[in-house]
Amino acid sequence: MGYVCGKCGTEVTSIEEGMVRCPSCGYRVVYKTREPIAKTIKVD
Ligand SMILES: [Zn+2]
Repeated sequence: MGYVCGKCGTEVTSIEEGMVRCPSCGYRVVYKTREPIAKTIKVD
């Protein structure tokens, strides 16, 4: 299961329990890539 950073969108592959952190920008909020992120993408 993968994650993406909630700030810069970098894919976060190495997550330890309790230590969720983007390796690129250090942001501590990530989203599971399996969840529908499409909510923020508008497709008409
Ligand atoms: Zn980031």
